[in-house]
Amino acid sequence: MTQAFLDRVTSFAADHLTPAAADWSMGETPDTAIYEMAGQIGILGMQVPQSFGGQGLDFATRAAACSILAGADFGFAMSLVNTHNIALRLSEIAPDAMCQRYIPDLLSGKISACTALTEPSTGSDFAAVTTQAIQADTGWVLNGEKTWIINGRHAGLSIVYAQCRSIGDSKGIGAFLVDLNAKGVMRYAIDGGFAQTSMGTGGFSLQDVEVAHDAMLIAPGTAFKAILTEINGARTYVAAMCNGMVGQAIADVAAYGRHRDSFGKPLNAIPSWQAALSAAEAALNSSQTLTARAIDLVNTASDAQLAAAQAKIEAVTCAQRYLPELLHLMGAEGLRPERPFARHIAAAQIAGFTDGATNILKDRVARLTAQKGP
Ligand SMILES: Cc1cc2nc3c(=O)[nH]c(=O)nc-3n(C[C@H](O)[C@H](O)[C@H](O)COP(=O)(O)OP(=O)(O)OC[C@H]3O[C@@H](n4cnc5c(N)ncnc54)[C@H](O)[C@@H]3O)c2cc1C
Repeated sequence: MTQAFLDRVTSFAADHLTPAAADWSMGETPDTAIYEMAGQIGILGMQVPQSFGGQGLDFATRAAACSILAGADFGFAMSLVNTHNIALRLSEIAPDAMCQRYIPDLLSGKISACTALTEPSTGSDFAAVTTQAIQADTGWVLNGEKTWIINGRHAGLSIVYAQCRSIGDSKGIGAFLVDLNAKGVMRYAIDGGFAQTSMGTGGFSLQDVEVAHDAMLIAPGTAFKAILTEINGARTYVAAMCNGMVGQAIADVAAYGRHRDSFGKPLNAIPSWQAALSAAEAALNSSQTLTARAIDLVNTASDAQLAAAQAKIEAVTCAQRYLPELLHLMGAEGLRPERPFARHIAAAQIAGFTDGATNILKDRVARLTAQKGP
Protein backbone atom coordinates (compact mmCIF):
# COMPACT_ATOMS: atom_id res chain seq x y z
CA MET A 1 0.00 0.00 0.00
CA THR A 2 2.68 2.48 1.08
CA GLN A 3 5.08 1.72 -1.78
CA ALA A 4 2.26 1.73 -4.34
CA PHE A 5 1.20 5.16 -3.02
CA LEU A 6 4.76 6.53 -3.12
CA ASP A 7 5.16 5.21 -6.69
CA ARG A 8 2.02 7.16 -7.67
CA VAL A 9 3.40 10.27 -5.98
CA THR A 10 6.71 9.87 -7.85
CA SER A 11 4.93 9.60 -11.21
CA PHE A 12 2.66 12.54 -10.38
CA ALA A 13 5.68 14.70 -9.48
CA ALA A 14 7.59 13.72 -12.63
CA ASP A 15 4.67 13.96 -15.05
CA HIS A 16 2.81 16.99 -13.70
CA LEU A 17 4.91 19.07 -11.30
CA THR A 18 8.36 19.10 -12.89
CA PRO A 19 7.08 20.15 -16.34
CA ALA A 20 4.89 22.94 -14.92
CA ALA A 21 7.28 24.22 -12.26
CA ALA A 22 9.32 26.40 -14.64
CA ASP A 23 6.20 28.43 -15.48
CA TRP A 24 5.21 28.62 -11.81
CA SER A 25 8.64 29.98 -10.96
CA MET A 26 8.00 32.72 -13.55
CA GLY A 27 4.76 33.69 -11.75
CA GLU A 28 2.10 31.47 -13.37
CA THR A 29 -0.58 30.08 -11.10
CA PRO A 30 -0.96 26.28 -10.94
CA ASP A 31 -3.95 24.86 -12.79
CA THR A 32 -6.73 23.70 -10.45
CA ALA A 33 -6.82 20.42 -12.42
CA ILE A 34 -3.40 19.52 -10.97
CA TYR A 35 -4.75 20.05 -7.47
CA GLU A 36 -7.66 17.74 -8.22
CA MET A 37 -5.28 15.18 -9.72
CA ALA A 38 -3.35 15.22 -6.44
CA GLY A 39 -6.66 14.53 -4.73
CA GLN A 40 -7.42 11.62 -7.03
CA ILE A 41 -4.17 9.84 -6.21
CA GLY A 42 -4.73 10.34 -2.47
CA ILE A 43 -2.10 12.98 -1.65
CA LEU A 44 -4.61 15.31 -0.02
CA GLY A 45 -5.78 12.55 2.30
CA MET A 46 -2.59 10.55 2.81
CA GLN A 47 -2.72 10.44 6.61
CA VAL A 48 -6.47 11.02 6.95
CA PRO A 49 -8.18 7.87 8.29
CA GLN A 50 -9.94 5.68 5.73
CA SER A 51 -13.20 6.12 7.65
CA PHE A 52 -13.11 9.75 6.46
CA GLY A 53 -12.22 8.82 2.89
CA GLY A 54 -8.46 9.23 3.31
CA GLN A 55 -5.60 6.80 2.68
CA GLY A 56 -4.93 6.04 6.36
CA LEU A 57 -1.15 5.99 5.82
CA ASP A 58 1.37 6.77 8.55
CA PHE A 59 3.48 9.88 9.18
CA ALA A 60 6.60 8.28 7.70
CA THR A 61 4.76 7.90 4.39
CA ARG A 62 3.56 11.51 4.56
CA ALA A 63 7.17 12.67 5.08
CA ALA A 64 8.42 10.49 2.20
CA ALA A 65 5.69 11.82 -0.12
CA CYS A 66 6.48 15.42 0.87
CA SER A 67 10.15 14.81 0.10
CA ILE A 68 9.36 13.44 -3.37
CA LEU A 69 6.98 16.32 -4.18
CA ALA A 70 9.44 18.95 -2.93
CA GLY A 71 12.16 17.52 -5.17
CA ALA A 72 9.96 18.66 -8.06
CA ASP A 73 8.49 21.84 -6.55
CA PHE A 74 8.66 22.75 -2.86
CA GLY A 75 5.95 25.40 -3.22
CA PHE A 76 3.30 23.11 -4.64
CA ALA A 77 4.26 20.38 -2.17
CA MET A 78 3.72 22.85 0.68
CA SER A 79 0.39 23.88 -0.79
CA LEU A 80 -0.82 20.27 -0.94
CA VAL A 81 0.38 19.25 2.51
CA ASN A 82 -1.20 22.33 4.10
CA THR A 83 -4.60 21.41 2.67
CA HIS A 84 -4.00 17.82 3.79
CA ASN A 85 -3.22 19.06 7.31
CA ILE A 86 -6.58 20.79 7.63
CA ALA A 87 -8.45 17.65 6.51
CA LEU A 88 -6.46 15.60 9.04
CA ARG A 89 -7.09 18.14 11.82
CA LEU A 90 -10.83 18.14 11.12
CA SER A 91 -10.94 14.34 11.15
CA GLU A 92 -9.29 14.39 14.59
CA ILE A 93 -11.24 17.10 16.38
CA ALA A 94 -14.20 18.50 14.41
CA PRO A 95 -17.84 17.58 15.00
CA ASP A 96 -19.23 14.95 12.58
CA ALA A 97 -21.38 17.38 10.62
CA MET A 98 -18.40 19.65 9.99
CA CYS A 99 -16.27 16.70 8.85
CA GLN A 100 -18.97 15.55 6.45
CA ARG A 101 -19.39 19.05 5.10
CA TYR A 102 -15.74 19.84 4.41
CA ILE A 103 -13.48 16.79 4.32
CA PRO A 104 -14.70 15.37 0.97
CA ASP A 105 -14.01 18.70 -0.80
CA LEU A 106 -10.57 18.95 0.80
CA LEU A 107 -9.62 15.39 -0.14
CA SER A 108 -10.75 15.81 -3.74
CA GLY A 109 -8.86 19.08 -4.18
CA LYS A 110 -12.05 21.00 -4.85
CA ILE A 111 -11.01 23.46 -2.15
CA SER A 112 -7.64 24.23 -0.58
CA ALA A 113 -7.07 25.23 3.02
CA CYS A 114 -4.58 26.91 5.29
CA THR A 115 -3.39 27.32 8.86
CA ALA A 116 -3.12 30.95 9.90
CA LEU A 117 -1.00 32.04 12.84
CA THR A 118 1.33 34.73 11.47
CA GLU A 119 0.28 38.39 11.49
CA PRO A 120 1.87 41.57 10.17
CA SER A 121 3.12 42.43 13.66
CA THR A 122 4.12 38.98 14.89
CA GLY A 123 5.55 35.72 13.57
CA SER A 124 7.90 33.82 15.88
CA ASP A 125 6.24 35.26 18.98
CA PHE A 126 2.99 33.36 18.50
CA ALA A 127 1.65 34.31 21.93
CA ALA A 128 1.50 37.93 20.74
CA VAL A 129 -1.20 37.39 18.08
CA THR A 130 -3.66 40.26 18.03
CA THR A 131 -6.47 38.77 15.94
CA GLN A 132 -9.34 38.95 18.37
CA ALA A 133 -12.23 36.55 18.87
CA ILE A 134 -15.15 37.97 20.83
CA GLN A 135 -17.99 35.75 21.98
CA ALA A 136 -21.46 36.72 20.73
CA ASP A 137 -24.94 35.17 21.12
CA THR A 138 -24.66 33.28 17.85
CA GLY A 139 -21.00 32.28 18.12
CA TRP A 140 -17.81 34.31 17.73
CA VAL A 141 -16.82 37.48 15.90
CA LEU A 142 -13.28 37.66 14.51
CA ASN A 143 -11.22 40.75 13.69
CA GLY A 144 -7.59 40.94 12.63
CA GLU A 145 -5.15 40.14 9.84
CA LYS A 146 -3.13 37.08 8.90
CA THR A 147 -0.22 37.30 6.49
CA TRP A 148 2.40 35.07 4.81
CA ILE A 149 -0.04 32.18 4.75
CA ILE A 150 0.48 29.16 2.46
CA ASN A 151 -2.64 28.81 0.24
CA GLY A 152 -3.79 32.21 1.53
CA ARG A 153 -4.52 33.41 -2.02
CA HIS A 154 -6.98 30.62 -2.87
CA ALA A 155 -7.94 28.70 0.28
CA GLY A 156 -11.62 28.08 0.90
CA LEU A 157 -11.06 27.29 4.57
CA SER A 158 -8.63 28.28 7.29
CA ILE A 159 -7.92 27.32 10.84
CA VAL A 160 -7.33 30.76 12.31
CA TYR A 161 -5.60 31.24 15.67
CA ALA A 162 -7.05 34.16 17.59
CA GLN A 163 -6.88 35.69 21.03
CA CYS A 164 -10.08 35.18 23.04
CA ARG A 165 -8.91 37.10 26.13
CA SER A 166 -6.30 39.87 26.49
CA ILE A 167 -3.48 40.33 24.00
CA GLY A 168 -0.36 38.50 25.14
CA ASP A 169 -2.21 35.84 27.17
CA SER A 170 -0.93 32.58 25.64
CA LYS A 171 -3.68 30.70 27.50
CA GLY A 172 -6.30 32.86 25.79
CA ILE A 173 -5.54 31.71 22.24
CA GLY A 174 -8.11 29.52 20.52
CA ALA A 175 -8.41 28.12 16.99
CA PHE A 176 -11.42 28.65 14.72
CA LEU A 177 -12.50 27.15 11.42
CA VAL A 178 -13.22 30.07 9.10
CA ASP A 179 -14.85 29.97 5.67
CA LEU A 180 -12.62 32.36 3.71
CA ASN A 181 -15.46 33.18 1.33
CA ALA A 182 -17.52 34.55 4.23
CA LYS A 183 -18.60 38.17 4.52
CA GLY A 184 -15.87 40.35 6.03
CA VAL A 185 -12.89 38.36 4.71
CA MET A 186 -10.61 40.28 2.35
CA ARG A 187 -7.72 38.36 0.90
CA TYR A 188 -4.60 39.36 -0.98
CA ALA A 189 -1.78 37.58 -2.76
CA ILE A 190 1.88 37.98 -1.88
CA ASP A 191 3.86 37.89 -5.12
CA GLY A 192 7.55 37.58 -5.89
CA GLY A 193 10.12 34.80 -6.24
CA PHE A 194 10.39 34.20 -2.53
CA ALA A 195 6.60 33.97 -2.11
CA GLN A 196 6.45 31.16 -4.70
CA THR A 197 3.23 31.29 -6.71
CA SER A 198 2.81 27.55 -6.49
CA MET A 199 2.64 27.84 -2.70
CA GLY A 200 -0.33 30.20 -3.04
CA THR A 201 1.19 32.60 -0.50
CA GLY A 202 -1.16 35.33 0.62
CA GLY A 203 -2.92 36.92 3.51
CA PHE A 204 -6.35 38.04 4.58
CA SER A 205 -8.02 40.48 6.89
CA LEU A 206 -11.04 39.60 8.98
CA GLN A 207 -13.51 42.34 9.65
CA ASP A 208 -16.37 41.38 11.97
CA VAL A 209 -16.37 37.86 10.57
CA GLU A 210 -19.05 35.80 12.29
CA VAL A 211 -18.55 32.09 12.95
CA ALA A 212 -20.78 29.63 14.80
CA HIS A 213 -20.04 28.30 18.32
CA ASP A 214 -18.83 24.96 16.96
CA ALA A 215 -16.28 26.73 14.73
CA MET A 216 -14.04 26.89 17.79
CA LEU A 217 -11.97 23.77 17.15
CA ILE A 218 -9.40 24.30 19.87
CA ALA A 219 -10.43 26.01 23.09
CA PRO A 220 -8.33 28.69 24.81
CA GLY A 221 -5.83 27.08 27.14
CA THR A 222 -5.09 24.19 24.78
CA ALA A 223 -4.37 25.86 21.41
CA PHE A 224 -0.85 26.93 22.33
CA LYS A 225 0.08 23.40 23.43
CA ALA A 226 -1.71 21.82 20.44
CA ILE A 227 0.23 23.90 17.93
CA LEU A 228 3.55 23.13 19.61
CA THR A 229 2.84 19.38 19.42
CA GLU A 230 1.62 19.49 15.82
CA ILE A 231 4.60 21.57 14.79
CA ASN A 232 7.06 18.72 15.52
CA GLY A 233 5.51 16.81 12.63
CA ALA A 234 5.64 19.90 10.40
CA ARG A 235 9.30 20.55 11.25
CA THR A 236 10.09 16.94 10.42
CA TYR A 237 8.38 16.85 7.03
CA VAL A 238 9.91 20.24 6.13
CA ALA A 239 13.30 18.66 6.91
CA ALA A 240 12.40 15.76 4.60
CA MET A 241 11.37 18.29 1.92
CA CYS A 242 14.71 20.11 2.15
CA ASN A 243 16.46 16.74 1.79
CA GLY A 244 14.23 16.05 -1.22
CA MET A 245 15.35 19.27 -2.90
CA VAL A 246 19.04 18.61 -2.26
CA GLY A 247 18.67 14.99 -3.42
CA GLN A 248 17.03 16.11 -6.67
CA ALA A 249 19.70 18.77 -7.23
CA ILE A 250 22.48 16.20 -6.65
CA ALA A 251 20.85 13.83 -9.17
CA ASP A 252 20.60 16.63 -11.76
CA VAL A 253 24.22 17.70 -11.22
CA ALA A 254 25.53 14.12 -11.35
CA ALA A 255 23.67 13.46 -14.63
CA TYR A 256 24.91 16.73 -16.14
CA GLY A 257 28.51 16.06 -15.08
CA ARG A 258 28.56 12.77 -16.96
CA HIS A 259 27.80 14.41 -20.32
CA ARG A 260 29.09 17.98 -20.20
CA ASP A 261 32.68 18.16 -21.44
CA SER A 262 35.10 20.87 -20.46
CA PHE A 263 38.74 21.02 -21.58
CA GLY A 264 38.27 17.66 -23.31
CA LYS A 265 36.86 15.62 -20.43
CA PRO A 266 33.54 15.28 -18.63
CA LEU A 267 32.98 17.57 -15.67
CA ASN A 268 32.84 14.61 -13.31
CA ALA A 269 36.44 13.71 -14.19
CA ILE A 270 37.60 17.02 -12.73
CA PRO A 271 38.71 16.38 -9.10
CA SER A 272 37.54 19.70 -7.60
CA TRP A 273 34.16 19.43 -9.36
CA GLN A 274 33.67 15.86 -8.10
CA ALA A 275 34.85 16.79 -4.58
CA ALA A 276 32.20 19.52 -4.35
CA LEU A 277 29.49 17.06 -5.41
CA SER A 278 30.73 14.47 -2.89
CA ALA A 279 30.66 17.08 -0.10
CA ALA A 280 26.99 17.79 -0.88
CA GLU A 281 26.23 14.04 -0.86
CA ALA A 282 27.92 13.60 2.53
CA ALA A 283 26.01 16.55 4.01
CA LEU A 284 22.74 15.16 2.66
CA ASN A 285 23.47 11.74 4.19
CA SER A 286 24.02 13.22 7.61
CA SER A 287 20.88 15.36 7.32
CA GLN A 288 18.84 12.33 6.24
CA THR A 289 20.03 10.42 9.32
CA LEU A 290 18.72 13.12 11.67
CA THR A 291 15.46 13.40 9.70
CA ALA A 292 14.95 9.62 9.86
CA ARG A 293 15.32 9.74 13.65
CA ALA A 294 12.71 12.51 13.92
CA ILE A 295 10.36 10.65 11.56
CA ASP A 296 10.65 7.56 13.73
CA LEU A 297 9.75 9.49 16.88
CA VAL A 298 6.81 11.34 15.30
CA ASN A 299 5.60 8.09 13.74
CA THR A 300 5.51 6.35 17.11
CA ALA A 301 3.97 9.40 18.86
CA SER A 302 7.11 9.71 21.04
CA ASP A 303 8.60 13.00 22.23
CA ALA A 304 10.02 14.45 19.01
CA GLN A 305 10.58 18.03 20.13
CA LEU A 306 14.38 17.94 20.20
CA ALA A 307 14.83 15.55 17.26
CA ALA A 308 12.43 17.51 15.02
CA ALA A 309 14.15 20.81 15.77
CA GLN A 310 17.60 19.30 15.18
CA ALA A 311 16.46 17.64 11.94
CA LYS A 312 14.97 20.87 10.60
CA ILE A 313 18.03 22.98 11.48
CA GLU A 314 20.35 20.46 9.81
CA ALA A 315 18.22 19.98 6.68
CA VAL A 316 17.55 23.70 6.16
CA THR A 317 21.21 24.56 6.71
CA CYS A 318 22.30 21.80 4.32
CA ALA A 319 19.88 23.06 1.64
CA GLN A 320 20.83 26.71 2.13
CA ARG A 321 24.53 25.93 1.90
CA TYR A 322 24.67 23.25 -0.79
CA LEU A 323 21.94 24.23 -3.27
CA PRO A 324 23.91 27.31 -4.42
CA GLU A 325 27.09 25.19 -4.60
CA LEU A 326 25.27 22.55 -6.67
CA LEU A 327 23.95 25.26 -8.99
CA HIS A 328 27.54 26.46 -9.41
CA LEU A 329 28.57 22.98 -10.58
CA MET A 330 26.04 23.27 -13.42
CA GLY A 331 27.50 26.48 -14.79
CA ALA A 332 24.99 28.85 -16.42
CA GLU A 333 22.80 25.86 -17.33
CA GLY A 334 21.77 25.73 -13.66
CA LEU A 335 20.15 29.16 -13.97
CA ARG A 336 17.56 28.06 -16.54
CA PRO A 337 13.99 28.02 -15.20
CA GLU A 338 13.60 24.44 -16.46
CA ARG A 339 16.18 23.51 -13.82
CA PRO A 340 15.03 23.49 -10.19
CA PHE A 341 17.98 25.34 -8.63
CA ALA A 342 16.68 28.92 -8.42
CA ARG A 343 13.32 27.95 -6.95
CA HIS A 344 14.92 25.40 -4.62
CA ILE A 345 17.30 28.08 -3.32
CA ALA A 346 14.38 30.43 -2.65
CA ALA A 347 12.45 27.56 -1.04
CA ALA A 348 15.37 26.77 1.29
CA GLN A 349 15.19 30.36 2.56
CA ILE A 350 11.45 29.99 3.10
CA ALA A 351 11.98 26.68 4.91
CA GLY A 352 14.24 28.60 7.28
CA PHE A 353 11.17 30.55 8.47
CA THR A 354 8.16 28.24 8.29
CA ASP A 355 7.25 26.16 11.34
CA GLY A 356 9.95 27.77 13.45
CA ALA A 357 12.72 30.08 12.29
CA THR A 358 16.22 28.58 12.47
CA ASN A 359 17.49 30.96 15.19
CA ILE A 360 14.52 30.19 17.39
CA LEU A 361 15.03 26.46 16.87
CA LYS A 362 18.71 26.75 17.77
CA ASP A 363 17.73 28.36 21.08
CA ARG A 364 15.14 25.62 21.62
CA VAL A 365 17.72 22.89 20.98
CA ALA A 366 20.15 24.55 23.40
CA ARG A 367 17.45 24.70 26.10
CA LEU A 368 16.26 21.12 25.59
CA THR A 369 19.81 19.79 25.51
CA ALA A 370 20.66 21.64 28.74
CA GLN A 371 17.52 20.20 30.39
CA LYS A 372 18.56 16.68 29.43
CA GLY A 373 21.95 17.21 31.05
CA PRO A 374 25.26 15.56 30.09
C1 LIG B 1 6.57 31.67 2.12
C2 LIG B 1 6.12 31.65 3.55
C3 LIG B 1 5.00 30.90 3.89
C4 LIG B 1 4.50 30.93 5.21
N1 LIG B 1 3.38 30.22 5.52
C5 LIG B 1 2.81 30.35 6.74
C6 LIG B 1 1.55 29.73 7.04
O1 LIG B 1 0.99 28.98 6.24
N2 LIG B 1 0.96 29.99 8.24
C7 LIG B 1 1.53 30.81 9.16
O2 LIG B 1 0.93 31.02 10.21
N3 LIG B 1 2.74 31.41 8.92
C8 LIG B 1 3.39 31.20 7.74
N4 LIG B 1 4.60 31.81 7.46
C9 LIG B 1 5.18 32.69 8.44
C10 LIG B 1 6.34 32.07 9.21
O3 LIG B 1 5.85 31.14 10.12
C11 LIG B 1 7.09 33.24 9.87
O4 LIG B 1 7.84 33.88 8.85
C12 LIG B 1 8.00 32.77 11.00
O5 LIG B 1 7.22 32.37 12.10
C13 LIG B 1 8.96 33.88 11.44
O6 LIG B 1 8.24 35.02 11.77
P1 LIG B 1 8.60 36.45 11.12
O7 LIG B 1 8.80 36.25 9.66
O8 LIG B 1 7.57 37.40 11.56
O9 LIG B 1 9.99 36.82 11.75
P2 LIG B 1 10.25 37.43 13.19
O10 LIG B 1 9.55 36.63 14.22
O11 LIG B 1 10.01 38.89 13.16
O12 LIG B 1 11.81 37.16 13.34
C14 LIG B 1 12.78 37.89 12.56
C15 LIG B 1 14.15 37.27 12.80
O13 LIG B 1 14.50 37.35 14.18
C16 LIG B 1 14.73 36.07 14.74
N5 LIG B 1 14.15 36.02 16.08
C17 LIG B 1 12.94 36.51 16.49
N6 LIG B 1 12.78 36.27 17.79
C18 LIG B 1 13.86 35.61 18.22
C19 LIG B 1 14.27 35.07 19.49
N7 LIG B 1 13.52 35.17 20.59
N8 LIG B 1 15.46 34.44 19.57
C20 LIG B 1 16.26 34.31 18.47
N9 LIG B 1 15.93 34.81 17.26
C21 LIG B 1 14.76 35.45 17.14
C22 LIG B 1 14.05 35.08 13.79
O14 LIG B 1 14.69 33.82 13.81
C23 LIG B 1 14.21 35.77 12.45
O15 LIG B 1 15.48 35.46 11.95
C24 LIG B 1 5.16 31.72 6.19
C25 LIG B 1 6.32 32.43 5.84
C26 LIG B 1 6.81 32.38 4.55
C27 LIG B 1 8.05 33.16 4.23
